[in-house]
Amino acid sequence: MDIRTGNGYDVHALAEGLPLWLGGVEIESPVGCMAHSDGDVAIHALCDALLGALALGDIGKHFPDTSDEFKGIDSKILLARTAGLVRSHGYRIGNADITIVMQRPKLAPYIETMRETLSAVMGIPVPAVSVKATTTERLGFTGRGEGCAAYATVLVIKD
Ligand code: MG
Repeated sequence: MDIRTGNGYDVHALAEGLPLWLGGVEIESPVGCMAHSDGDVAIHALCDALLGALALGDIGKHFPDTSDEFKGIDSKILLARTAGLVRSHGYRIGNADITIVMQRPKLAPYIETMRETLSAVMGIPVPAVSVKATTTERLGFTGRGEGCAAYATVLVIKD
């Protein structure tokens, strides 16, 4: 059995009046991510982790933010394509673990929906998808509400 891990990290600046998408779910929030796509940092970190596991480069290489094709795109489409790429290389996704770093709003009410959404998009069971959220105790750019960040770790398996 061939097992590989990957990690991903992403940051977006926050601005008032923009929609906030995290983990494929729209979050009720006065601020949202500034981005070429829908700015879903959790999915972007997850895509980078999946690409990293297979040493296929990064999300910017596969879905360039200079391309009109990806302007305002639903990041779930990027994740579906990335998961397809993993499968096309003969691997299946074993599990994914994501940490979203954001001071506010509180994300706890959305975590289960994010897990269900991401598992459906990747085609893996819900128990294989973990989503966690943390603040940074008001420290740093996330703590000041200037931006949000996400970390992702994945395991991929070739049976
Ligand atoms: Mg991003």
